[in-house]
Amino acid sequence: MSDATPRAVVAGAGIVGTWHALELVRAGFTVDHLEADAAPTGASVRNFGLVWVSGRRSGEELDVALRARTRWAEVGAAVPGLGFRPAGSLTVACTAAEREVMQAFAGHPDAGARSISFLEPGEARACNPALGGDLEGALHCALDAVVEPRLALGALRAHLAGEAAPDRYRFHPGCRVVTAEARTVVDTAGTRWGGDLVVIATGAAYDHLPGTEGLGARLRRVRLQMLETAPFAPRVTTALADADTLRYYPAYEVAPLHRLGEQGVVAAAHHLQLLLVQRPDGGLTIGDTHAYGEPFDFALSEDPTDELLARARRILGADLPPVQRRWEGVYAQCADGSVCLREEIRPGVFLVTGPGGRGMTCAPAIAADTLTKAGVLP
Ligand SMILES: Cc1cc2nc3c(=O)[nH]c(=O)nc-3n(C[C@H](O)[C@H](O)[C@H](O)COP(=O)(O)OP(=O)(O)OC[C@H]3O[C@@H](n4cnc5c(N)ncnc54)[C@H](O)[C@@H]3O)c2cc1C
Repeated sequence: MSDATPRAVVAGAGIVGTWHALELVRAGFTVDHLEADAAPTGASVRNFGLVWVSGRRSGEELDVALRARTRWAEVGAAVPGLGFRPAGSLTVACTAAEREVMQAFAGHPDAGARSISFLEPGEARACNPALGGDLEGALHCALDAVVEPRLALGALRAHLAGEAAPDRYRFHPGCRVVTAEARTVVDTAGTRWGGDLVVIATGAAYDHLPGTEGLGARLRRVRLQMLETAPFAPRVTTALADADTLRYYPAYEVAPLHRLGEQGVVAAAHHLQLLLVQRPDGGLTIGDTHAYGEPFDFALSEDPTDELLARARRILGADLPPVQRRWEGVYAQCADGSVCLREEIRPGVFLVTGPGGRGMTCAPAIAADTLTKAGVLP
């Protein structure tokens, strides 16, 4: 690295690229931040905004999530536009079998590492009075938090261009990278962007640059369906989940999941689970489904929407406002369960992607770990 102010280039302005920009600026770099589109519209603006520590697998994955949660809280305090709130979460049991599985998990040492405890129905309602439906109890995670996905990226960029590093951060929308060379990327206009370190964080577009052909075997794309209602008057004070999330989040592998029985037909067909977050305007973001095989259907389907809304009504014990928006999102996931893929595809050029359904949660620590791997941080 040169003695002058070190320079970095980050391609991709989703949450992974943006946190790399933030950590590079913090480490003293001047950063050129390139984004293919006029503004990022990938997975990072389509998600729930859940900083979801509860579901992380013990070991490296949980360690990354806990470090990231700390950084979200720190930066959230300095950048109110992120909408960071340490709301916690409740994973609700609607049947005796779900209650049994949750109680068993709460008794496992892993639960304490995530600040998870089992709440009786009355305690769960005291924690979140919007829970007006029938429930048998809930797992409470005090560490889970929420940010605003449609505001967070812009807020972080404004923070970087403003108080954090007015002279050392430049955002370049409409700048699509097509080639990577040593410590350099080249965009469609032929402009060469060089630095001491280059990070490519192009999300699900992980196999379109020369040098990335071989990575496809280590990654897969996953498509999710989501919806949002008009404002719901009661305050939903925590994020909410249902027992089907136990089937998908690896933290719960230590629980006696066989006691949950078979998933319902629609849920099994769409790999569906209920997650619900209230936005500051009162709207409810509700999801999600998972499709693993490409090519993905181009259409949004109605049966998972009906199923998700029925589950939300059951837990809240209330009619819901009309659905205002529905959308899909695609993320990249490491096929072997790793936290992310971080590959030096050319000297000094790191491709970082594949955090799967935990990218919003883990991006701060993923970025810090790239800087460590590149020798920038100890
Ligand atoms: C519906 C949904 C819900 C989710 N919910 C959660 C959640 O609640 N919590 C959680 O932790 N995770 C969640 N995730 C996962 C999380 O959103 C992703 O892991 C994360 O957003 C990935 O971030 P990224 O920056 O890698 O990708 P992206 O957000 O897709 O960003 C990649 C960016 O790179 C740009 N780009 C692409 N090609 C180029 C190029 N050649 N040159 C320059 N720029 C380029 C794209 O335009 C895009 O802006 C969810 C994902 C989805 C889809």
